[in-house]
Amino acid sequence: MTHRVAIVGAGPSGFYAADGLLRGRPDLRIDIIDRLPTPFGLVRAGVAPDHQGTKAVVRQFDKLLDQLDVRFAGGLEIGRDLSWDELVAAYDAVIVATGMVIDRRLGIPGEDLPHVWGSWRFVAWLNGHPDFRGGPDLSSVKSVAVIGNGNVALDVARVLAKNADEMAKSDIVPEAGAAIAAAPLGDIHVIGRRGAEQASFTGNELAEMGRLSRAVAVADASVREAVAPAGDPTPERLRKAKNIETLKGFAAHTAGDKPVTVHFRFHAVPTAIRPGTIELSTGTISADLVVTCIGYTGEPFPQADGVFPVGWARRGPSGTIPTNRADSHAVAKQVIAGLEDRDPKSGPDILPLAVDAEGWRRIDKAEVAAGAAQGRPRVKVVEWQALLDIAQGD
Ligand code: NAP
Repeated sequence: MTHRVAIVGAGPSGFYAADGLLRGRPDLRIDIIDRLPTPFGLVRAGVAPDHQGTKAVVRQFDKLLDQLDVRFAGGLEIGRDLSWDELVAAYDAVIVATGMVIDRRLGIPGEDLPHVWGSWRFVAWLNGHPDFRGGPDLSSVKSVAVIGNGNVALDVARVLAKNADEMAKSDIVPEAGAAIAAAPLGDIHVIGRRGAEQASFTGNELAEMGRLSRAVAVADASVREAVAPAGDPTPERLRKAKNIETLKGFAAHTAGDKPVTVHFRFHAVPTAIRPGTIELSTGTISADLVVTCIGYTGEPFPQADGVFPVGWARRGPSGTIPTNRADSHAVAKQVIAGLEDRDPKSGPDILPLAVDAEGWRRIDKAEVAAGAAQGRPRVKVVEWQALLDIAQGD
């Protein structure tokens, strides 16, 4: 008998936790559970489809599924198919790696209009998440307001701004790619409620906005006065100084030089959304589509003995994928310490039949084969039933 650990959520923090556990206790039996029939969570559904370099991290996660005592249980929802109580009772430890998948709200009038999309819903649509089929109608969208000054706002603005050639090697779902390519887009406004010196963009992601084929990036005049706060710790000050330098470069560009202009607007607090416009503290601008990129919240989970949150479920929605490695490894050490001197539970295996690693491999193979025909990394299967059928070998 050995200890059994359940990890709920097959995203990066869940896999890094499995990795940490196996480094410390290679004998553990680990079940990685996900409500989707596919693993990799945010990497599959949240990382922008044109950032394939970032998505490559899944190769190391996939290798963990080859380990003898690691099982993948996809298509299994805790709270629906199995209760949290049952899980906690059956396993020696439960790691909660469910991330944060609910868009935060702006709390301003007009937020519930149909042309207002939260970034999770929008990016999940681009990425073929089976719960988010059917995207916004882009057929007459000329202007877009992207609210927020983080990397998610850049992801949304960039994917809308790129042309079809720039997206050719991505795994954007074909209907989303076609809708964006056919949209009469002219202006994308990236809206920050504070100044350039407060933006949470990272350097490479912001610089990429200056290298797009069909879009020119421009920044408002406020960036000329922006200075990285002297009191910030050195890495933050350097990041902000680089951002400001990049944005100063954008301020020298001319709007309209390319078919699409990405406008960086600062000190602009959204106050109301109406059909076709958004009201900001600095004035009203056109916006046929609004995408809020202002962070996420998560689903509740039990705070019980033997339950260990990791990743965004533990820390909140901040930090890049590698940030989760150290975090999950540290929690894995705590889990291992908690198992010391405790006999393994001896109950039966309660894991119901679900999509296992072999089922996921069938989906993966089908997607990669469909992609190869188009020179893409994969074409995703986006319907629940189709995912389950392929997983079951039908
Ligand atoms: P974020 O960096 O926290 O940015 C959220 C933005 O929303 C901030 O600019 C914030 O402004 C703004 N905001 C919040 N409430 C607002 C409101 N009521 N009105 C207007 N603006 C509001 O988060 P994120 O962009 O969602 O990204 C989440 C994490 O994933 C980050 O750590 C990010 O770096 C990471 N990520 C990384 C990549 C990459 O590496 N390529 C890609 C995507 C995401 P204030 O600062 O004023 O609060």
